[in-house]
Amino acid sequence: SVRVRFAPSPTGFVHIGSLRTALYNYLFAKKMGGKYILRVEDTDQSRLVEGAIEGMLEAMEWAGIKHDEGVFLDENKNVYQGGEYGPYIQSQRLDIYKRYMEDLLEKGHAYHCFCSKERLDKVREIQKSEGKIPRYDGFCKGLSKEEVQEKIQSGESYVIRLKLPTNTEIKFNDIVRGLVSMNTDDLDDQVLMKSDGFPTYHFAVVVDDHLMGITHVIRGEEWLPSTPKHVYLYEAFGWEAPTFVHLPNILNAERKKLSKRHGDVAVEDFKKKGYLPEGLVNYVSLVGWSPESNEEIFTLKELEEAFSLERVSKSGGVFDTDKLNWVNQHYIKECDNDVLTDLAIPFLIEAGYIKQDDAKEKYEWIKEMVSILKEGLQYVKQITEKVNIFFGDTVELEDDECREFLKLEHIPTLIDALEEKISKEEITVDGIKKIFKEIQKEHGIKGKNLFMGTRIILTGQMHGPEIPQVMQLLGKEVVLKRIRYVKE
Ligand code: GLU
Repeated sequence: SVRVRFAPSPTGFVHIGSLRTALYNYLFAKKMGGKYILRVEDTDQSRLVEGAIEGMLEAMEWAGIKHDEGVFLDENKNVYQGGEYGPYIQSQRLDIYKRYMEDLLEKGHAYHCFCSKERLDKVREIQKSEGKIPRYDGFCKGLSKEEVQEKIQSGESYVIRLKLPTNTEIKFNDIVRGLVSMNTDDLDDQVLMKSDGFPTYHFAVVVDDHLMGITHVIRGEEWLPSTPKHVYLYEAFGWEAPTFVHLPNILNAERKKLSKRHGDVAVEDFKKKGYLPEGLVNYVSLVGWSPESNEEIFTLKELEEAFSLERVSKSGGVFDTDKLNWVNQHYIKECDNDVLTDLAIPFLIEAGYIKQDDAKEKYEWIKEMVSILKEGLQYVKQITEKVNIFFGDTVELEDDECREFLKLEHIPTLIDALEEKISKEEITVDGIKKIFKEIQKEHGIKGKNLFMGTRIILTGQMHGPEIPQVMQLLGKEVVLKRIRYVKE
């Protein structure tokens, strides 16, 4: 049965492309009734970032992309492992790699290399000056067993390299790319084991994918050029290679690879702006994959049904923030008001609109405000740009158009009528509607003159949420204060 894995290196933040890789692995496993594994690839010790594993697992949990086996986070945010194929952290599997490396050496598919960094640099320099692609020149390939033993015994440091045959075509089938073929003359004798005894990614990934029973390797296309070496290793070991699926890059609007320099790319960035996990996951699923139908709104459950690797596209998908916003807006509209309020409160505190204590004491009022504004929100943080109309006893006119509108002939009558009626009336949505009807009848003020006029008088803006709802939330006292403020 199908077994897939997401194999992040804990080197920093979680790129949106990683989220998509994890998602597609997850969806494919679900669709096929298989298992989805999360393995940590930390063999490059120089690139490790403290807390990156925890951050990555938190991001996955937030997104709702759950794995069946591998590395997990408990309630106290401690890392633990679960599953029958562990350990799932590569730095804990060094003895396994050592064993398989001995096997590979024995079979004659790898060799010790004692070249110093200085020598390698020089070789590279010369090759470059000759206009060649720099590659290891095979200097140590011909060392005899005895020579190798001698050097090791005398304490020389070494790496172990893959011994590729010359002029040999390596072929494999990629679900997205079709048949991929590469000649070994275009490949380097890849370092498989470093001088510190750690395997490189290329060695560890093959050993682990094999031992963990991985049937499909679904990963970013930046790994496509490495895959021939992996395929060769499978052959060298006499193992069956998994099926490969290389996902197209996620591009920015300039069709360049999406990177941190161009704005938000970390899952955390989106979370911090108040994108909902449902919205981000739904949107990201569509970057590089297209459903059979024209539909674009999919819950995770629906994606589990609809997803297929066959519909992953070859060409890069452009990350379109407007589209993301549109999808996310859909989920905000559907979001429960309590959930949305809890998400909004930290933004409102940060922007200085409310205090920590208000969050409890005025919870219902805040919730009402959130529910009035939610229609227009693309992500939760945007609420801070829209709440100003609910705060303060005075009114600030937004622009000249508003100022001009308030000079219209009917405005003084409208202001007086509003003041008089609101003073007498209990202020509710229905009460306000009744007042509007009366004003219409008694003073002949209607349509835009009435509704936009009232909105400008009370909020200083020409557009915004339904005015009766706004007035009800503001309450009689504030409404009257604002009317009197504008009157002066
Ligand atoms: N550790 C690699 C990464 O961080 C995973 C590559 C793969 O899936 O084989 O991208």
